[in-house]
Formats: sequence, structure tokens, C-alpha cells
Amino acid sequence: MNLSITPSPQFQARQVKVKYNDIKHIPNVPCACCGKKVILPEQLAKILGAVSRPMASIIKSGSMNGWENNETIWKILQNFAQNNPKQSLTSLMIGNSDEYKQLSGAVSTLAEERCKSTPENTEATRKTLFQSIIANSRNKMRSSSVVMKRMAPLKSYIEGTKLEVFEQLEIYSQKYPRKTLTEIVNMEEIVKFHKMKDLLQRVETKEQIDFHFSNIQKLINSANPQSQEVFDQLKEEALDIFAVISDPQMRMLKIKKLYQAFLKQNNCEKLTNKINKEIDQIPLTYITKDAFFVFAHNHDFDDNKIITSIFNPVISTFEHVIPQSKNGEDRMKNGLVMHKDCNRYRGNLPYEEFFEYHPEMPKNIQKQVNYIARRILEGKLIGAFRFWPMTIAKTLYQYTNGAINLDLTRHCEKGLEDTEQRIQLRNDFITQLKNDRNNKISKKQELQKQIEALEAEMNGLGNVVKELNSENQNEKRLISFYESHIKAQKKSKPE
Ligand SMILES: [Zn+2]
Repeated sequence: MNLSITPSPQFQARQVKVKYNDIKHIPNVPCACCGKKVILPEQLAKILGAVSRPMASIIKSGSMNGWENNETIWKILQNFAQNNPKQSLTSLMIGNSDEYKQLSGAVSTLAEERCKSTPENTEATRKTLFQSIIANSRNKMRSSSVVMKRMAPLKSYIEGTKLEVFEQLEIYSQKYPRKTLTEIVNMEEIVKFHKMKDLLQRVETKEQIDFHFSNIQKLINSANPQSQEVFDQLKEEALDIFAVISDPQMRMLKIKKLYQAFLKQNNCEKLTNKINKEIDQIPLTYITKDAFFVFAHNHDFDDNKIITSIFNPVISTFEHVIPQSKNGEDRMKNGLVMHKDCNRYRGNLPYEEFFEYHPEMPKNIQKQVNYIARRILEGKLIGAFRFWPMTIAKTLYQYTNGAINLDLTRHCEKGLEDTEQRIQLRNDFITQLKNDRNNKISKKQELQKQIEALEAEMNGLGNVVKELNSENQNEKRLISFYESHIKAQKKSKPE
């Protein structure tokens, strides 16, 4: 009898390793703030790891500029190359691996030794030493055409200036396919071109800003004339907002609020709409793709820095709904997924206030919860994730005093149906297991009886053996009796 059974899919699902341990590790989640997709740090790390050549090939080429002579560090690098034949030194640097800790420790020790007489220089020396190791890997970057090809799948995640930079790099990588990105941003032709453009752009931006502020001045003067000083001060305050707040939407609203307050004070609120229109036309940002190239050149960027600065703003982060500084818990029930930049803009602002700058956010939170809820219903997110939509809905409802009341009807209805179905399937499986157990018990009992019968039979056989043995003994005795009888007769017989 074959008693093997196939476990139900639910039972098998339990054996599946949970892939994500946090909502911020779920791929393609729409950002709770702006609603655009996030990229995962792992995705970026993978690209960065692929930018420079594997450590193994650098070691093989023997171009470590003397680091071969430092026994400790050389051994760490060799071990790393041996254990990670396809990885670059960069991925050792960005990961918090054991090798990184070892290397970091060894470099610190070396720096301390070198700065025994001048301990204040230790930290700077340490940095230089690290940079010298990295420089060897930096020299071994892959060509821009390869790097741009590897980054291509991430293009859809970025927009605005970062996208412009990306597209510009795409053009350069076609023009100079053999050069690395670092070499490109340092090419004289390119530096010249972007510096020139940047300069023009800045002049243009400044002119535009001045133009709109003077329009505002004219509008206000027409209703309630003010001194030049008043306007200069207002403009200065507005430009301060420009400089301090990086979120463009938040910046515009703050500037509008500044002027609204002024209009109210001076009884010319009827101008609000016209002035808001002017403010809307102020160029949003000084940061242009030209500024990026100039900055990358001036700050000695390497390929990793170039790539990181393009993608960092859209990396996924865990947004604490109730800020940690206000005792918000560091748990999933208090978390949404946001871009690094969106999260930075929010800071510790209460949602009530942040929503003023991002009125689209409640809609985007719903979008995010819908996305994750759908993945849960598809069975792609299991375990604690299943409770997340309900718990985050509760947190948001309480935190915003009911302003955010997520619609989870579909999720709950489908989830209820789904849960009932799962219970049914589990119950079926339990019945199956019970039947199986009973089958095995009765089989065991049957076998037990067979064993008893066999034992009885064996006992019987033992007795027969004993009987036959004793018969054999008797026969043997009879044989020796006959033999001795024959011998005795032979002796007494006369010859
Ligand atoms: Zn965002």
C-alpha cells in the first residue's frame, strides 16, 4: 500500500521563503507622496556593482599600484576576489560585508601607524588610503556604452533634470562609446560646453525671476503703492525660500503664502489670483543638466557617484507616518513607502500641513495601498504583510483625524473570501492528514497481528527443530550402538 500524499498548495506556500521583510523592499510600489514608482536600493547596488570591473580581474592584471606590498590588505582583497569572482571593489565598498569591515579595520590600523606622531591626521590619512584603494578600481571602470546599457531599465523611474542628465549621457556614450562616464564629464569639450550653457541658463533664469518679481511689484503698486524697500525685502524673503526649500511645490506654496499675507495686510486681496499666476511662472529651479555636469567635473565624481546622484532621489525609503521624533513606531503599521527625496521634503511636517503642498498625496497613498493589497490578494505577499492595509489605514485615520479614510472594501471583501477559502483548504488538508493517520494505524494493527502469527509460527518451528534434534541424538546413539555391536561380533568370530 502506498500512503504518500501530495501537500496542498497552502501547505507548500508555508515552505516558501518570505522574500521581502519590509514594505520598502517590494518592487515597483508607487510612492505615497508623488505616486511614481520607486526603485529599490538593491536594484541600484546591482548596477553599481556592474560598473567597475570585477576585483578578480584587477588583481590578475596586477595593477593595484603597490597595494600588493601590504600583506594584510592584499590578503583581504584577494579573499574578496576569490569569494566573489564577479564582483567589483565597489560592491565591497557599498555592501556592509564582513570583507568591508575587515578592510576598513585594516586601513584604520595602517592610518594609525602612519600618524603615530600626528594623531590629528589619522582620519584624513585613513580617507586618503581608502581613496587610493578605490582609485585602482576607478581606473578600471567599464565603458560608458556598457554602463548606459545596464542602466537603461532604470530610466523609466527618473524624470526632470535627472532624466535630462541621463539622456545627455546616453548621447555622449554613443559619441564616445569607449570612454567611461568619468572620462566623459572631464572631457574638455564637454566641460566647456556645459559651463557655457550653465552660464547662459543662469543669466536667463535670473532675468526671468526678476521679470516676474517686477510684475508683482507693478500689480501691488497699482492697488496700494509701496516703497521700493518693501518690495526688495519681500523679494529677498521669497528668494530665501527658494534657496532653503528644495521641494518645488512646497517652495511655490510658501512663496504664495508669503505674498498672500502681505496682500491681506495691505487690503489688496483681490490681487491674489493675479499674483499667484506670476509666482507660478517663476522658473522652478536653478538646477539644470548643465549644472550637473559642471558639478560632477568640479567635484571629481567617479562613475559610482554619477550614477548614484541620478538615482538616489527615487530610491525607496520607509516613511514613518507618525515621525519617530514624535514617538512614531519603527514598524510596518506606521509606515508607507516614499522616494528618498519625497521623504526628505516631508521631514517632520504634520501631514495636515504637508498635504497643503502635496494635495495629490491622499490619492497616492490610496494608490500605494491598492497596489500592495493587490499583491497580497495575488498571494505574492504573505505573512505579516496581509495585515498591513488594515493597520496602516487605522494609523492614517487616527493620525489625520479621519482626513484619510482609506477605501479597503474590495481588499476586505476579496480578502474575506480568500481567507474563508484558505480555511476550507486547510480543513480539507487536516481531514486528509487524519485519514492518512487512521489508515496507517489500521495498517500497523494488521501488521501487528501478522507479527504475532509469525511469532507463534516461529515458536512452533522452534519446537519442531528441538524435537528433530533430539530424534537426531537418538539416531546417533543408535548408530554408535550398532557400530560397537558390529565390532564386538567381528572380534569374537574365529578366523
Ligand atoms: Zn515620490
